[in-house]
Amino acid sequence: MEYEAVIGMEVHVEINSQSKVFCACSTDFNAPPNTNVCPICLGMPGVLPVLNRDMVDKSVAVGLALNCTISRWSKLDRKNYFYPDMAKNYQISQYDLPLCFDGRLVIEVEGAVKPIGITRAHMEEDTARNTHTLGGGNSGVDFNRSGVPLLEIVSEPDIRSAQEAHAYLTALKQILQYLNVSDCNMEEGSLRAEANISLRPKGATEFGVKTEVKNVASFSGVMKAIEYEIARQTQVLEGGGVIEQETRGWDADRGITFSQRKKESAHDYRYFPEPDLVPVVVDEAWEQRIRATLPELPLPRKQRFESAYGLSGYDAHVLTATQAMADYFETVVGAGATAKKAANWIMGDLQAMLTEAKASIGVCPIGAEDLAAMIALIEDGTISGKIAKDVLAEMFASGKPPQAVIEEKGLVQISDTGALAAVVEQVLAAHPAQVEQYKAGTEKVLGYLMGQVMKATQGKANPKLVNEMLRKALTG
Ligand SMILES: [Zn+2]
Repeated sequence: MEYEAVIGMEVHVEINSQSKVFCACSTDFNAPPNTNVCPICLGMPGVLPVLNRDMVDKSVAVGLALNCTISRWSKLDRKNYFYPDMAKNYQISQYDLPLCFDGRLVIEVEGAVKPIGITRAHMEEDTARNTHTLGGGNSGVDFNRSGVPLLEIVSEPDIRSAQEAHAYLTALKQILQYLNVSDCNMEEGSLRAEANISLRPKGATEFGVKTEVKNVASFSGVMKAIEYEIARQTQVLEGGGVIEQETRGWDADRGITFSQRKKESAHDYRYFPEPDLVPVVVDEAWEQRIRATLPELPLPRKQRFESAYGLSGYDAHVLTATQAMADYFETVVGAGATAKKAANWIMGDLQAMLTEAKASIGVCPIGAEDLAAMIALIEDGTISGKIAKDVLAEMFASGKPPQAVIEEKGLVQISDTGALAAVVEQVLAAHPAQVEQYKAGTEKVLGYLMGQVMKATQGKANPKLVNEMLRKALTG
């Protein structure tokens, strides 16, 4: 029997608010353990939480970017369970009335677009962080993370492969970064992804029993865990076994998932409305105010890059990967460079230098206007494309504009026929055999002769001019 995978994603993202979601404590990740704490986020009895408005603003922005409906009236609920990372024995979350619901995120896999339903995005608080690596058999609990604003984004089970799951996570992370609501740093736990995976016979409409894979530290890890789970479940079903609903961990070193616990159902948590917080009422005016602040989102921007600048899908994809990259590109084009040339320089030499320097375009030492100026200097024949690579490297190292680099290094292209005539003459005199070959009809030796002229001028000769002059001299 052929099976089809049915996958849904749950993503927890820490919202980059200055203070925690229900108290005024700082959310600074680098603070020493248990210094950003107060009675509220330590879970003391009798304290009163107050909802952080910035968290609501940013959650609404995410909801709108994911095409969700924003609840006019929602509330917070207590999710009851015991664990040492949560001193008050309940987490404040949202149960039946999430802030955002019924959205969609469009993903692209191999050029084809597919909408993935967004079930909901709800606000909650992060838990404290348990550490088991203190030595001496000791474990520690750091309450700095307790109460950090957390948004949980739940997708519909519309994903059918590990590749689609990867595309979903990538697109979601990109949107969150465009909105500037989270640093999405997976290593620091700012973004955590879990996948629900089940199989069903191809063509069936009913869902099979799902497993949930947690604690995966990278998008590629999520892909591998999904692939592993699909293979494992196929094997169980083909052997006549049944899949148990459970939570499974991912062992990245061994490349396997393993059973952690049988999955709880929602009723196990005994949710009830949080009595210490007022309902959240986001009226039309509030929603519009947030909508007006939304930037152009990654997919529309990519599509605009294709239509407005005539870029390929691939180029547009790379250039809109981050907002900083897309802004840089548009500034270069705005300063007069053609789109294709700007794209080639940014994605080629510039990106290589940034990668080498482990830097991002946001801190690029070459200003976008300076790159445009350098491209203009190639266009007007001041420097050759080859020399431009050296100029760019020097601009990157020194931060100087191209004109200054060219002047200092004496890199101006020789476009003076008088100056070049002597060199052409010397080269032809030094290579009589090649001259004979050319005259006998072997046109490709022209390239060799051109190379000799370029070498003699340290690459500064105008190649187009040299080509013309050589042809003229050889046929004259
Ligand atoms: Zn606090």
